[in-house]
Amino acid sequence: MSDTNRLQTIREEILHCQKCALAKGRNKAVPGEGPSSVDVMFIGEGPGFHENQQGKPFVGQAGAFLDELLAAADLKRGEVFITNVVKCRPPSNRDPMPEELTACEVYLDEQIQLLNPKVIVTLGRFSMAKFIENGRISQIHGKAHQIGNRLVVTMYHPAAALHQPALRPVLVEDFAKLRHLLGKEEPVPPKVEDLSLTVRPVKADEKPMPPEQLSLF
Ligand code: SF4
Repeated sequence: MSDTNRLQTIREEILHCQKCALAKGRNKAVPGEGPSSVDVMFIGEGPGFHENQQGKPFVGQAGAFLDELLAAADLKRGEVFITNVVKCRPPSNRDPMPEELTACEVYLDEQIQLLNPKVIVTLGRFSMAKFIENGRISQIHGKAHQIGNRLVVTMYHPAAALHQPALRPVLVEDFAKLRHLLGKEEPVPPKVEDLSLTVRPVKADEKPMPPEQLSLF
């Protein structure tokens, strides 16, 4: 079976999975989304209210913020794979229980193996804990760790910034670092000829522009 077909089969298995107690309360399982060949994979915690309704990862406010963060890293949703450590919503957004993480791990492990991304970005402490033992997100956010043949970059969860606005610029800065890590160039400043600024010659009888007006430019 090809990797693409196996990813699709895993998706179907997740949609019908009954391996842990989270199956009972879910509306839709959220297997993850993205192409079958990616350089970067994002791993969050678990579906929230909107994800459980739609069956898609990172929708709603946290999803909109993730889109902003992806833009800061010069990435688009269509070119990355996004999933979670548990594929069904924990009730009232509580933390996933150890037995739920263990039951669901087999899906994530196989997704990682099939996608084989160069970079994994963990979003929040539960996905961080899968790769970094005893890590503290407040100390290692925005840092890259060489694990096996890939880099694991540990980030705060975007939803954390919705509750703590002070984390917003921190996340934006950390995602901007991802741009360098992925070898992407800084945005190129527009060339002078691209600017809609036209320069006309000063007429002989025209007074020069006062300094305070010049400072506007
Ligand atoms: S959380 Fe994972 S293991 Fe539990 S029912 Fe959903 S897909 Fe299955």
